[in-house]
Amino acid sequence: MNVPYLDLSRARLRIATELAGRWQRVLESSAYVLGPEVREFEAAFASYLGVSACVGVANGTDALLLALRALKVKAGDEVILPAFSFFATAEAVLLAGAVPVFADIDATTYNLDPAAAEARVTSRTVGIIGVHLYGRPFDVDAVNAVCSRHGLWLLEDAAQAQGASYHDRKVGGLGTLAAWSFYPTKNLGCYGDGGAVTGNDVALVDRVRRIANHGQTSRYHHVELGTNSRLDSLQAAVLNCRLPLLDGDNQRRRELACRYHGGLREVSEITLPVDAPGSFAVYHQFTISTDRRDELQHDLAERGIGSSVHYPSALDRQPALGGSADRATCEIAARAADQVLCLPLYAELRDDEVAAVCAAVSAFFAKAKVEVNALAG
Ligand SMILES: *Cc1c(COP(=O)(O)O)cnc(C)c1O
Repeated sequence: MNVPYLDLSRARLRIATELAGRWQRVLESSAYVLGPEVREFEAAFASYLGVSACVGVANGTDALLLALRALKVKAGDEVILPAFSFFATAEAVLLAGAVPVFADIDATTYNLDPAAAEARVTSRTVGIIGVHLYGRPFDVDAVNAVCSRHGLWLLEDAAQAQGASYHDRKVGGLGTLAAWSFYPTKNLGCYGDGGAVTGNDVALVDRVRRIANHGQTSRYHHVELGTNSRLDSLQAAVLNCRLPLLDGDNQRRRELACRYHGGLREVSEITLPVDAPGSFAVYHQFTISTDRRDELQHDLAERGIGSSVHYPSALDRQPALGGSADRATCEIAARAADQVLCLPLYAELRDDEVAAVCAAVSAFFAKAKVEVNALAG
């Protein structure tokens, strides 16, 4: 059986009728930018998260950058972030003119290690970006404690964690600001680029809104330098259709994760993802690790099973970052980059497909054992 790593068309059919109606109304109203669909989504997402304010923006990278600008990050400021994330987390810091300072991750959660982050605080540090990687909340209490001790802000990169919660509170309102992406592959995705910034400091989120719309307080009155980064009405309509389905989708993702655990429990050569205490993970990815990652991925591909590596390099080793970070410090991130493999997991994935993936993974390691035994014999 072929199992695609991701099949977005399965989700599209579920909202096709409602979306056609919403898109028709947008087209008839000509409210393409900042129209009622955007307002509706901002209010619905804020209420879903239990936060005071939400502003839609053009994409997740902009969400990070706009948040950093609203936090008045300036040249020479240092921002601490995990060495293992999508490139945009570090890129936004550089685009804001600041210096990304990488801290190593925890070996079991792949999330920022709060002690490693604290060890990197200097007199120039202004804040910390925590990433809820793979849909699993980072240790927010411990990172917030580091922030309080040193007078830092906390920016959540929640791009992979729509609907995740930490001690029964949804991520996205647990720090100073949170940045979201609605790129099509995220748990809550649209049909192009989209993003948002959320938080409980209404004035700060309003500042993001202003910067995202040319620094205007009223039409053609520009009080500061902004940019153009707005959520598109057609994309907001997709999000309005999909938000009510998010909790159900996340439950299904968790159920599939359980099935993977059941099917792969006996495979001693791999490490399975664990739910950290107090955290409700939404399995944006189901990430296993093995020191035979590349061979396994190749073998799965030959059996028609899709998989993906998020991410093959730690951020501190990316050429664009100039190798500025000292290479010795983020060993766990470097090892993760060599060992992680994400298996297919999306709400529409079927039970028999998960079973086929588990069988293929088991077959790879069983075959390997036979070969080792043959060599030994
Ligand atoms: C997707 C993602 C982003 C960037 O979002 P875009 O909408 O693609 O710009 C940032 N951080 C993380 C962790 C992501 O997964």
